[in-house]
Amino acid sequence: MSHVFPRHCHADLPTAVAGAGCYLIDRDGRRYFDGSGGAAVSCLGHGDPAITEAIKDQLDKLAFAHTGFFTSEPAEALADLLIAHAPLGIDRVYFTSGGSEATEAAIKLARQYFVERGQPQRRHLIARRQSYHGNTLGALAAGGNEWRRAQFGPLLIEVSHIAPCYEYRERREGESPEAYGLRAAQELEDEILRLGPDTVMAFIAEPVVGATAGAVPAVAGYFRRIREICDRHGVLLILDEVMCGMGRTGHLFACEHDGISPDILCIAKGLGAGYQPIGAMLCSGQIYDTIAGGSGFFQHGHTYIGHPVATAAGLAVVGAILERELIPRVQRLGAQLDAALHGRFAQHPHVGDIRGRGLFRGIELVADRETRAPLDPALKTAAKLKAAAFEAGLICYPMAGTIDGRRGDHILLAPPFVMDDSQISEITDRLATAMEAVLGPQAA
Ligand code: PLP
Repeated sequence: MSHVFPRHCHADLPTAVAGAGCYLIDRDGRRYFDGSGGAAVSCLGHGDPAITEAIKDQLDKLAFAHTGFFTSEPAEALADLLIAHAPLGIDRVYFTSGGSEATEAAIKLARQYFVERGQPQRRHLIARRQSYHGNTLGALAAGGNEWRRAQFGPLLIEVSHIAPCYEYRERREGESPEAYGLRAAQELEDEILRLGPDTVMAFIAEPVVGATAGAVPAVAGYFRRIREICDRHGVLLILDEVMCGMGRTGHLFACEHDGISPDILCIAKGLGAGYQPIGAMLCSGQIYDTIAGGSGFFQHGHTYIGHPVATAAGLAVVGAILERELIPRVQRLGAQLDAALHGRFAQHPHVGDIRGRGLFRGIELVADRETRAPLDPALKTAAKLKAAAFEAGLICYPMAGTIDGRRGDHILLAPPFVMDDSQISEITDRLATAMEAVLGPQAA
């Protein structure tokens, strides 16, 4: 009998014993194509010798030195590398062990920034309804996914939620994408004015929404207007790129596509590519200088921040993404994957939308393509598809987002950047097998 406490208590999971390139292999020798990189983690695939070598080298030199006493060479080098490529104004890196810790650090930094500026009343956070920022209590309060939060209320921080920028569901007939983007962004300004601008500390959003909606990018112009609104009211902009950052969308940072810089930026997942648990919260020089020139101490910390082995892994991963020119590869393969998904599934009677950026692609499943009515949540279609795809040898990530207060069904694909062209059809073939098993044949 197993003594591991799994997420799904009654799940009978195979035991993974090896990873090679785009595949995971279980104890019985079955191979699974890692079409979602776990949850948008394994951007370099599995068993990359350069990364494991870098980790072993670091372990041989130094496994751990507490950041209360020391900095370390890999932490310094990784921070330098990230800042050399970061959006304008971003100047400091605070390492964490994962994504939730990064968003917790972001929320606490925003709060402390205003306290140190003599504006402690600025403590309200605004987020979006279709969002996920992590599972710790502060990050959970920020996330807009009701079903994840329901049993843990009242949550710990003051958060209000506005509509996401979700073109497929929210753009009105006859409205241009640009006009829709401005209308969606205006909700932020309305909420800031409703609360009183001097009570709001920050707005947090994912540039491309991952775990709650299945790779939903904002329409052009939305984030520029969001940036303007934040600036007008002195509200900090926190971008959560835990899923969509580190090259996943075809830019090292997803916000490059939107042409804006945040005040605080969260990354994780692809930063360690699964080789080590690591995340980071990056912030502007202005925020850092406020703390440095005030109390001089960020009132936060975890034992493993800036862990030498984790940062050595991150350094090797980001180095590989840049040196192997994987970002142009993500753009090229992403366009091919998008075309292949459209070619194969665009006419499927239960496929409502296919979207995303780079190698971050989502499929939204519906009961009816015309009305866009979601599938009955009781059918648990995304979960069944996950199981059928797994059976067919494909790992894909099912989503239970919320549409109009109801759970909707999405499938997320986030394959390794190192896959090759021929493996695109491996994804679509296996997905087609799973779709047919769960939703019936293609013909309407
Ligand atoms: N933020 C986003 C956008 C995420 O997708 C996730 C995880 O899926 C998190 C934060 C939390 O990251 P972690 O699971 O590493 O704590």
